[in-house]
Amino acid sequence: MSAQATVAPWLVDYDATVAAFDWDRAWDDLGGRPDAEHGVNIADLALDRHVRAGRGDHVAIRWIGRDPADVEAPVDLTYSMLASRTHRFACALRNNGFGPGTGVATLTGRIPDLYVTALGTLKGQGTFTPLFSAFGPDPIAQRLQLGHIKVLVTTPTLYRRKVAGIVDRLPDLELVLVCGATEDQTAGSTNGRRGGPRVLSFGAFLCDGTKTFEIGYTDPETPALLHFTSGTTGTPKGAIHVHGAVVTHHLTGRLVLDLHPDDVFWCTADPGWVTGTSYGIIAPLTNGVTSIVDEADFDAERWYRILERDAVDVFYTAPTAIRMLQRLGPELAAAHDFGALRLLASVGEPLDAEAVRWCERVFQVPVLDTWWQTETGGIMIANYRSEPVRAGSMGRPLPGIEVGLLARTPDGDLVTDDRGAPIEITDPDISGELALRAGWPSMFRGYLDQQDRYDAAFVDGWYRSGDLARRDADGYFWFVGRGDDVIKTAGHLIGPFEVESALDEHPAVAETGVIGKPDETAGTIVKAFVVLGHDQVPSDDLRRELLGHARSRLGAAVAPREIEFVDSLPHTRSGKIMRRLLKARELGEDEGDTSALETPAWAT
Ligand code: ATP
Ligand code: MG
Repeated sequence: MSAQATVAPWLVDYDATVAAFDWDRAWDDLGGRPDAEHGVNIADLALDRHVRAGRGDHVAIRWIGRDPADVEAPVDLTYSMLASRTHRFACALRNNGFGPGTGVATLTGRIPDLYVTALGTLKGQGTFTPLFSAFGPDPIAQRLQLGHIKVLVTTPTLYRRKVAGIVDRLPDLELVLVCGATEDQTAGSTNGRRGGPRVLSFGAFLCDGTKTFEIGYTDPETPALLHFTSGTTGTPKGAIHVHGAVVTHHLTGRLVLDLHPDDVFWCTADPGWVTGTSYGIIAPLTNGVTSIVDEADFDAERWYRILERDAVDVFYTAPTAIRMLQRLGPELAAAHDFGALRLLASVGEPLDAEAVRWCERVFQVPVLDTWWQTETGGIMIANYRSEPVRAGSMGRPLPGIEVGLLARTPDGDLVTDDRGAPIEITDPDISGELALRAGWPSMFRGYLDQQDRYDAAFVDGWYRSGDLARRDADGYFWFVGRGDDVIKTAGHLIGPFEVESALDEHPAVAETGVIGKPDETAGTIVKAFVVLGHDQVPSDDLRRELLGHARSRLGAAVAPREIEFVDSLPHTRSGKIMRRLLKARELGEDEGDTSALETPAWAT
């Protein structure tokens, strides 16, 4: 296919791409829209398609083990290697009686077997669920039960510490595959209940399969992924995604992340949450790039080394990580050459303007903010490389996506007209609930076992995101806050992000979390929890200075009335500030579901 005929070209002109966009044509680059004869299987498009096209020897994943010494000895897995291993996995599943629809979960760190399991499961038309390896036994049990998981892939240590003790609570679990274990280690495993799951070594299981698995016809509506949300605002929800979502993954990989086949791409997210799957597995592979997978957790020095050594072209990370790099200062970065880096993007939380400017100084490229959710399956709003970046803005809708703002009452209900239909805000700079016109390919198809909740997320053809935003006169969206976090004080509606951004601009501040605190006279006041930079000492003078700084930026009505210095803020495992926990702690209330908390109670 010639470059002109390619239907998902790289974006060079936003307005022209939006005007010419057509979802049907977006499939062309993946071999055409699926129909009754030609199905669509994510794993086939991610791996085998490249092998068939003669790119089997290209490196698909460059894996870097956890140890510091591993940084200098990465392991390269080619498209061919992954294609044949995933064939074996799919074949072994089938040979062991696990047909289409089987729920397969991973509880491992970022190791190659995780990627083989994910794509092998998809080949066999099972449903893949990645779990954070840092979860404790209860959140693991909760998610495995909810997902009716039959096959679990884990490591010897995680099996011993977290799984062996919960198998009694998992009647659906039939098979546990232990990575890196010898058969001897697994042969004697007891699993606590008679007739409980078989425990096998992952390697031995693969030998049950041959390399000649044939992927069956896969309807685009076949469930592929079951992802649990981050749990920032409550109990995590299980969002179901289908194989047809791949067209959004692929397209956003091109239009937003600007992936070209010879690129080295690094998405730092763990596959335990949706970014690590959509952009840590699927989009880079369908686009044929080399993806960096680092097993270790955040370490600034190590990250800088990898970005330089592997000449990473495109880097997708989270605002929390950027803030951590910022906190450590620009000197660490100055020793490295990031000359290859063409695009830097972030997702998961609001990205303040100061972070954008900092990255521009340190990496010589701005950070492109992107907005999306577990439910949307892929990037929906973004800044684009070819367009002017508005620091602090989430950017503009993905071509093919219609974004609306629905008017809300101060109590958070939608304002409706006489027909009961929501009212769309069309004037600039007025905040409303961010909504997406339902029906894009990677839209979630259900919340597991929560049909009512799913139905309630849609109104009059719109999917309600639960986030608040405003749109400026040029069509750029600005994040205001999550609907639940918005603060009502003295007749104003305040988004915590606005206040956090102003405080984050102060050089002494590393990170801020803002909540509304009930107050006898004012009803609610704005309170900020502030983490200071590494060389800063809390004092009353500094508190006064920060209050003054916020007042001069925001005005007295919006600026915080109270500032409390804290050593750290509660984050989810995916790096988001859990404001509901700050609030519960402030008010001495029950903390609710904390299974997604970064340092879960069970670990301390
Ligand atoms: P839960 O739904 O369980 O409370 P969660 O909403 O944090 O958890 P995710 O689906 O992982 O789970 O996160 C999506 C949310 O993250 C968005 O709804 C939004 O609130 C926030 N988010 C993502 N990207 C951005 C961004 N660029 N700017 C601001 N917020 C963002
Ligand atoms: Mg959410």
